[in-house]
Amino acid sequence: MATTTDPIEEIKARIEEIDPAEAQREVADGAILIDTREPHEAQISRIDGAELIPPADVVGKVEGVAPDRGQRIILQCATGNRSARAADELASELGYENVASLAGGIAAWTEQGLPIVEPQGLTKDQRMRYSRHTLLPEVGVEGQLKLLDAKVLLLGAGGLGAPSALYLAAAGIGTLGIVDDDVVDESNLQRQVIHNTERVGRPKSESAKTTINALNPDVEVIEYQTRLDSSNILEIISDYDVLVDGADNFPTRYLLNDASVRLRKPVVSASILGFEGQISTFVPYEGPCYRCLYPTPPPPELAPSCGAAGVLGVMAGVMGLLQANEVIKLVAGIGEPLVGRLLIYDSLGTHFTELKVRRDPDCPICGEHAEEIPADELGKFPDYDAFCAAPGALSRA
Ligand SMILES: [Zn+2]
Repeated sequence: MATTTDPIEEIKARIEEIDPAEAQREVADGAILIDTREPHEAQISRIDGAELIPPADVVGKVEGVAPDRGQRIILQCATGNRSARAADELASELGYENVASLAGGIAAWTEQGLPIVEPQGLTKDQRMRYSRHTLLPEVGVEGQLKLLDAKVLLLGAGGLGAPSALYLAAAGIGTLGIVDDDVVDESNLQRQVIHNTERVGRPKSESAKTTINALNPDVEVIEYQTRLDSSNILEIISDYDVLVDGADNFPTRYLLNDASVRLRKPVVSASILGFEGQISTFVPYEGPCYRCLYPTPPPPELAPSCGAAGVLGVMAGVMGLLQANEVIKLVAGIGEPLVGRLLIYDSLGTHFTELKVRRDPDCPICGEHAEEIPADELGKFPDYDAFCAAPGALSRA
């Protein structure tokens, strides 16, 4: 009795192997071709007309493809070993009488210049790199191409921006802009995982770029070693499709909100403090804006500065990755974005709470009667001076 633990040479000696040209001829004459590889392999390239049945399923599923046990079946895998085992199983366990294995698999087939099917739009390297994305029907090659085409701007390469940037880069977001005028400090490394010990004292945007370039050559990183203000924000954000707010201060959050509403750019906004995080997605005129949610900033005593306030490093990771997830959904056009919803995560209790947030009809920025404000007044809010006298940050990211 044949067993799958037999050495491959013994198995190959007792089955029929055929070469690629013979296989091609037989398939043209009506033989059934079964591709016994995993779906992620078949995504990269396959032989036209082959039925995909992963190795573990061959015995259970072959009858669905070839009910007649006398039917000619050719099995094919990557290099001809898995298909040899499968051919042996079909013959010995199910009594198939006319089974062959393609010697050398699709590798030999390709080497001989026989035709293969490759998805359009992605290079061979990209098909490999993003195969776990493209296997998802919701993403597919089309969704991956959207990610590669997308331009995403990260405000800050800190606690939230660091994990977010890592995963967005890994996901193949084609252009990542990073705005940060700070340098890497040793106290950042507990949560800002895109940086490392060697880069203490280097600009954060440069450190992030170095890490991203090493991770994924598909991503172009554009550095902005500057602080956003009303004189540069419109120009900087106008190039981007989605903005990721990991800002560490309220003036920047209001500024970003006002400018993003004006240019109708979606913003994925998160903040963290201690063991708690918040996230929402602001799509201008589809849902509320940041000012609808927070018409005025909290008093300075409720917005402790980063130095004084601790944060669990993991919290930055959790919230930053929820932001990356929102970005990918917005870009690929899948799922339900957090529009009009504020998600609050309590990490000590491991509770997620969701609050509904509505558009404020009287919002000075996105309300029905909002008037366009001069560019140099973007981001202004009541008590600006008083607030800035005691610089605070809900999210020392
Ligand atoms: Zn609003």
